[in-house]
Amino acid sequence: MKTSGGLVMGILIVALAGYWLYDYLPPQYNPFAPLSPGDPPTLVTRYKMRALASQPEACMAVLREAQAQNMIAFRQAADTRGNCPLSGPVRVSSFGDVALSSSFLASCPLALSSAMYVHQRAAPAAKDITGSTLTRIDHLGSFACRNIYNRPGARLSEHATAEALDISGFRLANGERLSVARDWNNRAQKGTLLRQLFSDSCAFYGNSLGPEYNAAHADHFHLGMRGFGICR
Ligand SMILES: [Zn+2]
Repeated sequence: MKTSGGLVMGILIVALAGYWLYDYLPPQYNPFAPLSPGDPPTLVTRYKMRALASQPEACMAVLREAQAQNMIAFRQAADTRGNCPLSGPVRVSSFGDVALSSSFLASCPLALSSAMYVHQRAAPAAKDITGSTLTRIDHLGSFACRNIYNRPGARLSEHATAEALDISGFRLANGERLSVARDWNNRAQKGTLLRQLFSDSCAFYGNSLGPEYNAAHADHFHLGMRGFGICR
């Protein structure tokens, strides 16, 4: 009898703790609340973002919510076959008021992480540092059916599953253009902003690789979904 009394007590405590978590914790700290595109990238948010990779319908629901909030414009794209099959990809045409040099194909988690990065961090950082508005992101592509660094025998790149975006520059409303290739080592405002934009990306992607990583990344930020918090 004593044991079952303890068990009942234990269940009661867990239930009460769950109830408390659900009702009083802000969503970005509450593992049971669904992800919302405005949630800041706490560890809990980041685990939820990662979990969406295996929950396509839940991911699309959050992505549609982001579209309703003008954080992204996208449409569903056709699945592809062949060596690099894609299931449920989307074509992203803008991040709302932030345009793109061209649309890009993305897995749902890449599209969502990118929308959250652009609106939660990149646009505010541009405003803070320059006083101007981020208007456009220049990129080198997201989907390419190839191995890492195009090496034969290497494993498939994240680009083969549309799970990485290569960003080469940013444009501002005041006419300024920031180029990763040209301005990364700029000692004035452009360099400061680029470095801020890079480090801000790290909380939203599994891995962020920039010019400090190696020569192959001298002209772009590789922002991909593999890994957890790799930032170099
Ligand atoms: Zn890349």
